[in-house]
Amino acid sequence: MTDWIADEKKYVFQNYGRQPVVLDHGQGTRVWDTDGKEYLDFVGGLAVNVLGHAHPVVAEALAAQSRQLIHTSNLYYTKPMIALAKLLVENSCLDRVFFCNSGAEAIEAAIKLARRFGHDTRNGAFEIIATLDGFHGRTMGAVAATGTARYREPFQPLAPGFSHVPWNDLDAIKAATTSKTVAVLLEPIQGEGGVNMPEPGYLKGIRDWCDEQGLLLILDEIQTGIGRTGTLFAYEQEGIEPDIMCLAKGLAGGVAIGAMLARDDIAKHLVPGDHGTTFGANPLSTATGVATLSYVLENKLPEQAARASERLVARLRSMEDRLPVVTEVRGRGLLIAVGLAQDVAADVVAAARERGLLANNVRPNAIRFMPPLTVSDDEIDRACDILEAAIVAVTSPAK
Ligand SMILES: *Cc1c(COP(=O)(O)O)cnc(C)c1O
Repeated sequence: MTDWIADEKKYVFQNYGRQPVVLDHGQGTRVWDTDGKEYLDFVGGLAVNVLGHAHPVVAEALAAQSRQLIHTSNLYYTKPMIALAKLLVENSCLDRVFFCNSGAEAIEAAIKLARRFGHDTRNGAFEIIATLDGFHGRTMGAVAATGTARYREPFQPLAPGFSHVPWNDLDAIKAATTSKTVAVLLEPIQGEGGVNMPEPGYLKGIRDWCDEQGLLLILDEIQTGIGRTGTLFAYEQEGIEPDIMCLAKGLAGGVAIGAMLARDDIAKHLVPGDHGTTFGANPLSTATGVATLSYVLENKLPEQAARASERLVARLRSMEDRLPVVTEVRGRGLLIAVGLAQDVAADVVAAARERGLLANNVRPNAIRFMPPLTVSDDEIDRACDILEAAIVAVTSPAK
């Protein structure tokens, strides 16, 4: 019998710290490993699987489109990409869509668009202000925008023109603004940084500052988008509208896709030859995107996520009383983190996995949940029971 983990250690780059599980198949919120052990999947492919695993709408869209056209190149029009662009525009504050294949690529596109805009309209302004602990992906431009030293330093020199300011500090953005600044780039809620919430009024303050200074506000909704926070996009709950928005993760129900959206007066600055990608806007991913997004909208899954969130948060908060190590429950919708008083998140995640729950140790002292938007009350209850047992097992003095 194949020892898959041994083969992975032999043949695959060792750049990920994988959990010792070989996943085989899934259904909704559940996945099974190659030994037949069942797990509740509260990682959701890192906020990707908005409809869970093997959803018939996603599976059917993939199968049907694969029999029609998988790839054509952007030398031609195809129906699915136009339909997905229309759906995104009709359900957001923005006017035009550029499709790519990942979140980092959507960020790269936004950086290029902002620089092109600065080149054309703002005397060559090119600087982008981003936040410390912000995360925007792993390509060189996205790493330059990412505000975590560990992801940046080994890869110097990075693209110039980025500065990083503390999260939730509007004055720092004001102080960092120069005549060369063209944009502010941030996540509405910092995801990889530990599910860090914006203080009330922070994003509105940035929007007002950008308006005052003529700067572009680029929102990275790669993790927060597609209903994750209880509205289709997180900006809707902040009383603001971005000028440019990046999407990826949940947009096509698990198939690789990225998208940059922008207002028409900004989008027009990208002209033929400026930017492109071979696989971007391919019929397979965009048809799956149409099916996923239509299902999310028609079934009001953002609202359902908000309701599920209330139950999840209430259950987790009740642990704060019983378990002193649980210090905080933060997040919005189905992007939730449990803060711990000790750096035991990795051990808790391992103990939860043994008990049949997949969760993510996003920080040494924080556990992140990003279940499908379709997660049931019963699944939430069971996940919380398992988490509690795992925390007790890891932190009880008897250990
Ligand atoms: C995941 C993520 C990215 C990067 O997306 P990839 O598809 O991994 O390139 C960028 N920004 C945010 C906020 C993310 O959560």
